[in-house]
Amino acid sequence: MPNFVDPSPPGQCIFCRIVSGEIPAAKVYEDALTIAFMDIGQVNPGHVLVASKRHAVTLLDLTTEECAAVMQTAQRIAQAIGREFDPPGLTLLQANGPEGGQTVFHFHMHVVPRYAEDGVGLLWPRKEPPVAVLQDYAARLRDKLGT
Ligand SMILES: [Zn+2]
Repeated sequence: MPNFVDPSPPGQCIFCRIVSGEIPAAKVYEDALTIAFMDIGQVNPGHVLVASKRHAVTLLDLTTEECAAVMQTAQRIAQAIGREFDPPGLTLLQANGPEGGQTVFHFHMHVVPRYAEDGVGLLWPRKEPPVAVLQDYAARLRDKLGT
């Protein structure tokens, strides 16, 4: 997980200042709703961040349009990474809230080229509950989907 934490208040955060051009970034792409720039941490060469231009903290704060735009930009960046760096794997990582691993509280998605034994890790403690429990979770979520 990234260990940089941006303590800036909303609207003055480091990504808002990159969007406004107040601080420099190695920009890769931008459109009306999104911006993509190199992550200063560079877990692997070609590691890019795709952020919403508007200050939104988490996935839940994005509009439907922004959600679609972010994924479209992530795919374009992934294609460019494939053409230039040709990694055997690629990981998208999008963290929400401190418990979810978010360290800069302006929505962003990591597009990370991946290689065998590259040291990137995410613990994934499988619980494998009974099917009835899965059905219960699914029913509860279906009930909350809305229209
Ligand atoms: Zn911001």
